[in-house]
Amino acid sequence: MSTFGPVTRFAPSPNGSLHLGHAFSAIAAHDLAREGGGRFLLRIEDIDGARSRPELAAEFREDLGWLGLEYEEVPPQSTRLATYAAAAKRLRAMGLLYPCQCSRTDILTANPPMGPEGPIYPGTCKGRSAIAEERAAWRLDVAAALARTGPLEWHDDLAGPQIARPELLGDVVLVRKDEPASYHLAATLDDAADGVTLVTRGADLFAASHVHRLLQALLGLPQPRWHHHALLLDVSGQKLAKRRGSASLADMRRRGMDGRALACNLRAGVLPAGISLGKG
Ligand code: GLU
Repeated sequence: MSTFGPVTRFAPSPNGSLHLGHAFSAIAAHDLAREGGGRFLLRIEDIDGARSRPELAAEFREDLGWLGLEYEEVPPQSTRLATYAAAAKRLRAMGLLYPCQCSRTDILTANPPMGPEGPIYPGTCKGRSAIAEERAAWRLDVAAALARTGPLEWHDDLAGPQIARPELLGDVVLVRKDEPASYHLAATLDDAADGVTLVTRGADLFAASHVHRLLQALLGLPQPRWHHHALLLDVSGQKLAKRRGSASLADMRRRGMDGRALACNLRAGVLPAGISLGKG
């Protein structure tokens, strides 16, 4: 289908029920597409075979309908494993991936520098030979990749023009030990395959976009624009999370709450008690 307006997406991982933060994010992506005469997509990010609960995809669809959001669903990540493997093979052939056998404990005991998403990989396995490749994860050699692409720019509609700084996250894993791709590789390839032109998601993934811009350049993928919205925070000022007791949309729905009214309130900035909107 051709379209002139923005193509946005909501891309939840089916490892837990959706909460208000997800509703806020889905509404933002939906409204940006609708206001611009574009398309709003739903993509189930079920790359993590061990943590995915297939029954949650049906729950997510019901949640979106309850909020009054119409969407087009695109294929879930579990159907695209061959595409991820092919892209990883290309990056390996370019000499930009290296195998890594470090466990989380190995990384933490090396006193790594801290980045916006936790410890930055200290490069322990880079240049190391004798790594059993079949039991390794594969990391992107960010310095070599940037040397190949040269400086890159990207644009966030709220934060303005950005110079890509993928080194903020360091040599991220692109191929996991047990899966053909990590979130970074899968989401970047999917956004291109789905024709997404405006990547709308929470500000907690801002740093990831630096890496995604680099992957787009390496793999010759089109460059979208980005819109990282502020996050809903709980009483302790932390982003909403099921594990910290944030109520699920499915529970609200089953209790008979009006989802469309809730969506109107979120749009108007009328938030439930104890919930606030963070800084972008
Ligand atoms: N699947 C990711 C999540 O649920 C979202 C990724 C994205 O929007 O790029 O956090």
